[in-house]
Amino acid sequence: MEDTIIKAGMADLQAQHGALRAELTAAFDEVMDSCQFGLGPNVAALEAEIAAESGTAHALGVNSGTDALLLAMEALGIGPGDEVITSPFTFVATAETICLAGATPVFADIDPHTFNLDPEKTAAKITSKTKAIMPVHLFGQMADMTKFGEIAKAHGLPLIADGAQAIGASQNGRKMGEWAEISTLSFFPTKNLGACGDGGMILTPSAEIAEEVRVLRFHGSGGGYIYKRVGYCSRLDEMQAAFLRVKAKRLTAWNDQRRANAGQYLDLLADLDEHITLPATLSGNHHIYHQFTLRVRNGRRDDLQKYLASRNVSSAVYYPLSLHVQQGYVHLGYTQGDLPESELATQEVLSLPVHPDLNSEQIAHVAASIRRFFE
Ligand SMILES: *Cc1c(COP(=O)(O)O)cnc(C)c1O
Repeated sequence: MEDTIIKAGMADLQAQHGALRAELTAAFDEVMDSCQFGLGPNVAALEAEIAAESGTAHALGVNSGTDALLLAMEALGIGPGDEVITSPFTFVATAETICLAGATPVFADIDPHTFNLDPEKTAAKITSKTKAIMPVHLFGQMADMTKFGEIAKAHGLPLIADGAQAIGASQNGRKMGEWAEISTLSFFPTKNLGACGDGGMILTPSAEIAEEVRVLRFHGSGGGYIYKRVGYCSRLDEMQAAFLRVKAKRLTAWNDQRRANAGQYLDLLADLDEHITLPATLSGNHHIYHQFTLRVRNGRRDDLQKYLASRNVSSAVYYPLSLHVQQGYVHLGYTQGDLPESELATQEVLSLPVHPDLNSEQIAHVAASIRRFFE
């Protein structure tokens, strides 16, 4: 029986929003009628809800996940002359914001099993100029925060965790927001909790940092037209917050569905280890599978991707080029070969559809297509 009419895309927001349409529309109508559009009651409620869900005392809505990273560094006073150690295998915003803050990104290599920043390689790059360590919780699982916590403590450095891809993740039973001075979230539409546009959030257990972010996101204002420092225009909109609150109620169920989808792939593809390496989970991690990313060996990644496309299966390469060798970052002075694990990952990774609106028939079709390619 031929099954190629089954399709699987990387996201199905139409299905997700279709199921919630009446609730989402009511939320929009309420905001429109209230005529309160920025940093209002929906933002405050969303902040309280996400703070509780993330295990942190404070959550502050901002314009985007990118702004969350930038304001995190500004809040900690990181700027020119400072170094921040981070991963070269991530979305560009991680390193971009270090540059925008006026500081210098220092790349350490990744752990080849989890694709996350390697703690030992990070420790080896600490200098007197290092002002923070920025691990990224890539693809939905947290970096090894136990080890990063030890390293940070030993050197008196803060941790800023880029959690854009990991809302709902935890490690050793402790939620994401409990592990770092600052963790950041993104509500980009295709993230596990997505807005209908841009949005982001800063999580912190510190009342001082929270206050600094409050000032920074509103033009550096300490209240009224009195400005304590040069700030940003980085509000989260009420429309976005109202939309996100409707969706946030479903986040745990959606993350559980992603985990079930990943589990189905892990079962169906387990015996293909001669050709592919399935994603590994660090012991103690609750992985929420923003992406299900495997490695394809023997130089066959691009051919597999083309074959999958011919079977109506979307897939994606996150990320095709390590940040340390990107044209926009050559001024940092890295060359090919400096960070071999990150470079190898860019050659081998392929992310499969894992979003919560897939059914088991679609997952089976993706897995069967991969199997057929290697037969
Ligand atoms: C999406 C993402 C960001 C940026 O978030 P935006 O909301 O798109 O600005 C930062 N870091 C990582 C790892 C991301 O995946």
